[in-house]
This record gives sequence, C-alpha cells and structure tokens, in this order.
Amino acid sequence: MVKHAILSASSAERWSKCTPSALLNQQAADIPSPYAQEGTDAHLLCSYLLEREYGIETRDPTENLTYYNQEMQECAEIYLQTVNEIMADVKKVCPDPVIFVEQKVDFSKWVPGGFGTADCILLADGITHVCDYKHGAGVFVDATANIQMKCYALGVISMFGDIYDFDEICMHIIQPRKENISSWSIKVSELLTWADDYLSPRAQLAIKGEGEFVAGSHCHFCKVKATCRKRAEANLELAKLDFKLPAILSDSEISVVLEKVDNLVSWANDVKDYALTEALKGKKFEGFKVVEGRSNRKFTDVTAVADIVTSAGYDPYKKEVYGISAMETMLGKKKFVELLGNYVVKPQGKPVLVSITDKRPEFNSAAEEFKEKLEEK
Ligand code: SF4
Repeated sequence: MVKHAILSASSAERWSKCTPSALLNQQAADIPSPYAQEGTDAHLLCSYLLEREYGIETRDPTENLTYYNQEMQECAEIYLQTVNEIMADVKKVCPDPVIFVEQKVDFSKWVPGGFGTADCILLADGITHVCDYKHGAGVFVDATANIQMKCYALGVISMFGDIYDFDEICMHIIQPRKENISSWSIKVSELLTWADDYLSPRAQLAIKGEGEFVAGSHCHFCKVKATCRKRAEANLELAKLDFKLPAILSDSEISVVLEKVDNLVSWANDVKDYALTEALKGKKFEGFKVVEGRSNRKFTDVTAVADIVTSAGYDPYKKEVYGISAMETMLGKKKFVELLGNYVVKPQGKPVLVSITDKRPEFNSAAEEFKEKLEEK
C-alpha cells in the first residue's frame, strides 16, 4: 500500500490555504476514483519512457496498465519530448546534468513528515529543473507559484543543494490533455524565504488541526468537500449578495455572479453526488427518494439480432467512415497526416465566458473578423 504523508506535496495547495483540512482529510475515507488509477497508469508509462530514453534500468508496464490507450501513449510521448527539450537546453550551460525519475523528495525540514515524489528532476549547476506530469483533462494546472511544485523544489534543495551549485529552480507542468506546458522559475534564496515565512508556519498549524477553514478552488480535491460547512457557507453567500434596486441586475452585478458561479455549481454537484451515494447505501434525506433514471432500449444479443435480420433478407449493418481518433489509431499519426492532413480542419470552438485570467486568447467571432478585414482594406 502506498504511504501518503498527511502534509503531502500534492495536497499542499489545500492544507496550506485551509490548515484544518489536513487532519480532516487524514480521517476521511478514500473516495475511489477511476481517474486516480488512470493517472497512476499514465505516470508509470511516462517514467518507463523516460528511463528507457536515459538508459536507466526499467520494465515496460504497458500490458499491466488498466487504462492504457493510444491517447495515453501520445501524452506520455509529449512528456518525454518536453523533458528531452529541457535537457537539451540544460546541456547548453551544464555539460553533465543528472536525471532522476520518480524521485522521492523530503521537505520535512519545513513541513512535518513532508515528502512527495517528483516525476523528474534535472539536476544541474546554475538552474535545476523539476518536471511534473498531469494526466487530468479537467482542471488546468499552472506552474506559476504552484505550491506542490515549490514543495518538490524544497525537497530537491534539501537533498542536493550541498552537492550541486544551483541558485535557481525552474518548475514545469506538462499536461498534454489540456495542451498545457507551463514553466516558472524562482531563485533558491526566494524559495527558502517563502518556506520559512509562509509554508512552515502554515504546516505547523495544519499538523495540529489548527487555523481557520478557508474555502476556495483548493476545495476541489478535499475529501470532505461535499459536507464541509465552511464551503457550504461560502457558496451560500452568493444567495445573500446584497444587490440594490432596480429590478434588473447591472453588468457589474452580473460580473460578481459570474465570478462565483463555477465554484457554486461544482459545490452543488458535489453535494448531489454525495447525497446519492449515501441514499443508495440506505440513508434517508427528508423530502427525497431515489428513483430509476431514464434509460434507452437495447439489444440483449447483437450477433443474434444481426443473424435474424440477415436471414429475413435485410442488411443489419450500416457502413460508416471511422471518426478522426479511430482513423488516426488505425493508420498511425504519420500516415494519418500524410494521407488525410489536407482533409482535417478544426472548426472554431463554441464561445465560453471565462475569467480574464484564463490564458486562451480572446474569442474573435466571424462577424468581428469580417469587420476587421473591412477596416484593413
Ligand atoms: S472543503 Fe474546503 S474549506 Fe472545507 S475543509 Fe476542505 S479545503 Fe477546507
């Protein structure tokens, strides 16, 4: 069984912001998730590719991976390629960097019992690099001031700071399913000051279960997120927003609602999921009952159906061209581009309203583009 630190690097964003959540999460039961196993599989594949590339003894894990598929293979290759590119840059200034794959790092100097596993460390004089692979396709993970990455970096300083002469650490998040490769650097001296002034005092509160509950986006990975009173209060605050007359909300009031609505929806869904799970175990929620959802008719035996319809003189099959992903899997990426590259377009995505901090460029509607072209003439 994998041992998890109470104050782990991967949960540092949560416990450093909401210190009492550390002990609450330690006591709460694990919520099994297929995404967690998928992530573990992807990490095994990533480390295998990296170890093979750099001559480290390894074993191909593919046949034992539950969720292995073509997409996972491609994502792992993007990870490998990114690490190779970073390594090539490092070699321009340091001739003998050392690579560590899936390296356990200890940052207990600042955080009681603090350890974690860094996916890849490129140890070099001058700037050392820490890379983290994310398989998730949901939440976009930014490397900028990322607390998990800073914990890994502290572990690297603890282990190797005396042997290697680096004064800066660059952290990279590689999240291929979000088309996200994000990097951020910090001076070692600055990181150590942050660890002493912020991380260490927060960890001392967290390990004792002290401090204030603070709700925010870090609640997303909290085991008590569905039943946490603080999170409920924070979200229900929206209903109490003190909007003034007139009857119609102004644009600035709509902006206030938009700022909060994603967290509100995610909290409401967490509460609904939790209540359904508990109700299925037999718990009663006053005024609610579990009913059967809608379902569609389906054949019990598709082969028998095809045989019967064929015998009756009909063709039970429809012929269809494969979709893009299936075709790419069948032909392989290179052949796919060679044969069909000219027949693939990426239509403009549906507009979505997001926070101004989102890294994507602003949407340009067809009407807007037409107007710009006219103005250019
Ligand atoms: S749900 Fe949020 S506020 Fe509640 S304990 Fe977890 S991190 Fe803290």
